[in-house]
Amino acid sequence: MQNLQKNLADLDQSIQKACLTVGRSPQDIRLIPVTKTKSIDVIQHAIDLGLVDVGENKVQELILKANHLNNPKINWILIGHLQTNKVRQVIQYISEFHALDSIKLARKLNNELMAIHKKLEVFVQVNTSDEESKYGIKPNELADFLLELEKFDHLKVVGLMTLAIHSQEEQKIRHCFRTLKALLIETQKNYPSISRLSMGMSGDFKIAIEEGATDIRVGQAIFGHRNLSHTFYWPE
Ligand SMILES: *Cc1c(COP(=O)(O)O)cnc(C)c1O
Repeated sequence: MQNLQKNLADLDQSIQKACLTVGRSPQDIRLIPVTKTKSIDVIQHAIDLGLVDVGENKVQELILKANHLNNPKINWILIGHLQTNKVRQVIQYISEFHALDSIKLARKLNNELMAIHKKLEVFVQVNTSDEESKYGIKPNELADFLLELEKFDHLKVVGLMTLAIHSQEEQKIRHCFRTLKALLIETQKNYPSISRLSMGMSGDFKIAIEEGATDIRVGQAIFGHRNLSHTFYWPE
């Protein structure tokens, strides 16, 4: 836990460095600390250090922690896949959702949000890695998807989100982020208010920043190694 402050400082340095190489301003990068598997105490410590955004991948874990901490200053951000049958229980807790990838889910979200008079900022998750197993809509489906989303008044689409391919090859990872950036540029012709790119994690946030990320979702680089494998979060 005493490493938290140092890890955050190191991360800050890395973000600044990545920005410098491509002439971006670090102010344009928002860090979303991802606390999945980490204890309440660790999250509280992070809050004490000034963090307000907290990303969680799973509904049950998010709700448990939100109830425990019961702190209205925390922005709980759901970054992982959401099943329609869990929408009702989670929407009162979250300020953003980063993994919208079906109309069925959008409709359910919209209905439940309407019932509690709430609007929710959402990111559309796009599968940029051609891996059938991953969540997210296909790049060539995005335009139609956004058109369909227009009828859901309680969803405010603010950006696009992706998970890069699992690979040791930097070029393949970079390709995923470039694909999302290109899609955003195309999207902005019709939807200038969609402006954010949620991409980059501990292992690849530098590349993501170089390719235009505005929101990076970082867990392990701040909170230390997790024992659960990635496939626990992204079933194959
Ligand atoms: C866990 C997770 C992250 C962060 O991954 P780290 O390797 O801990 O940085 C980012 N995005 C999503 C969707 C996640 O589930």
